Amino acid sequence: MSIQTSNPSSNDYSKALSLIAAHSHISGLGLDEHLQPKATSQGMVGQLQARRAAGIILKMVQNGTIAGRAVLLAGPPSTGKTALAMGLSQSLGEDVPFTAIAGSEIFSLELSKTEALTQAFRKSIGVKIKEETEMIEGEVVEIQIDKSITGGHKQGKLTIKTTDMETIYELGSKMIEGLTKEKVLAGDVISIDKASVKITKLGRSFARSRDYDAMGAETRFVQCPEGELQKRKSVVHTVSLHEIDVINSRTQGFLALFTGDTGEIRSEVRDQINTKVAEWKEEGKADIVPGVLFIDEVHMLDIECFSFINRALEDEFAPIVVMATNRGISKTRGTNYKSPHGLPLDLLDRSIIITTHNYNEQEIKTILSIRAQEEEVDVAADALDLLTKIGTETSLRYASNLIAVSQQIAQKRKSNNIEVADIKRAYLLFLDSSRSVKFLQEFEPQYIDDHGNVQIASGA
Ligand code: ATP
Repeated sequence: MSIQTSNPSSNDYSKALSLIAAHSHISGLGLDEHLQPKATSQGMVGQLQARRAAGIILKMVQNGTIAGRAVLLAGPPSTGKTALAMGLSQSLGEDVPFTAIAGSEIFSLELSKTEALTQAFRKSIGVKIKEETEMIEGEVVEIQIDKSITGGHKQGKLTIKTTDMETIYELGSKMIEGLTKEKVLAGDVISIDKASVKITKLGRSFARSRDYDAMGAETRFVQCPEGELQKRKSVVHTVSLHEIDVINSRTQGFLALFTGDTGEIRSEVRDQINTKVAEWKEEGKADIVPGVLFIDEVHMLDIECFSFINRALEDEFAPIVVMATNRGISKTRGTNYKSPHGLPLDLLDRSIIITTHNYNEQEIKTILSIRAQEEEVDVAADALDLLTKIGTETSLRYASNLIAVSQQIAQKRKSNNIEVADIKRAYLLFLDSSRSVKFLQEFEPQYIDDHGNVQIASGA
């Protein structure tokens, strides 16, 4: 089987945008060269112990020594668990895949839970492929092309003896035309069984690249006069296992990479890809880059998902799984038993647990002021004090959300500067969770209950 790896996209789309917006001020874990956290750096404030621990995880991921492990970020709401994961993602560098999902995303009508998880796992494994392009210049005496097209239903072999590059090019193109029934022109990118083949002609040189391997064809140059192998260019690109799956899935095709509509991918496709990738690794053509799969709100998963994760962590190609939860002792979904953080004990047992803690007033103030800068709004000193007080008494997230609302209110009075009055108005207009609960308790009879009944008609 030949495997397509051309990757027209980056793995950015796999990162949940909504998660990133709230954390756009974070550009790393804010660590020094000894992986020690600076008080405030790269948008990160406080939470020193958790950041130190995340720094060690970062090092282990970079060294490739932590694949197949699970990390649990556990702590109260708004204590920076997601922020830490984002900081880790930013510090990893472009070549290390990072996939972020929320636990509840696993439940959809289109994909089974295990398929959705498998895709998330495979998005988090990078395959660094080294492609070598040899440029041969001068007279080519003989060129031999062996072809075996994907699936093996078309095969061909051709030996061309010529010294003329034009003829070599023409015959090579004709052969491909014969197999695809398509006209081929120089520089064209054509598609054979989802494999893309680029026909290149470079003056009196002929480029041989692994693009040809992708369609199962091997191009070999033989009997080249000495000294003709002039340049050897090495190109490295990283794609995820999932991207290779999608491109090679006969039912989907690579366009699914853009739409995200990949459907279920057959396990035989994945098995073949695993074998091929292992072969490439063996031959030194590819390196496996275990990345990070971040599962936010992991307590939303159920027992079947947890047992899948347990098994998947033992897979030959496994990423590091970072999970986050704000639950204490709670029920594991799909069971009747309670466990710490709602995670089954066997998964908890294999996880490294990092805890996060509530912020003090100064830390809340610094985070809010960074968020205001990020949202490009000016907040008066006394307004920031009030916002901080609100953050301390309600939650950091609520106070942070008030920034944008207060800005709108300030703009209504044609000012870009948020004053105390704007914050007060925003506070009255939008409830935080505890006031919302209080309000609900007071007016509960007017709401529809679980049985579809209203105890008191509104206005009664
Ligand atoms: P939850 O359990 O509710 O999901 P969480 O622990 O994941 O909460 P975050 O979403 O990371 O909390 O934090 C809430 C907001 O505060 C985000 O905008 C986040 O970027 C910011 N924040 C939290 N901690 C820090 C920090 N240490 N430094 C800078 N910003 C932070």
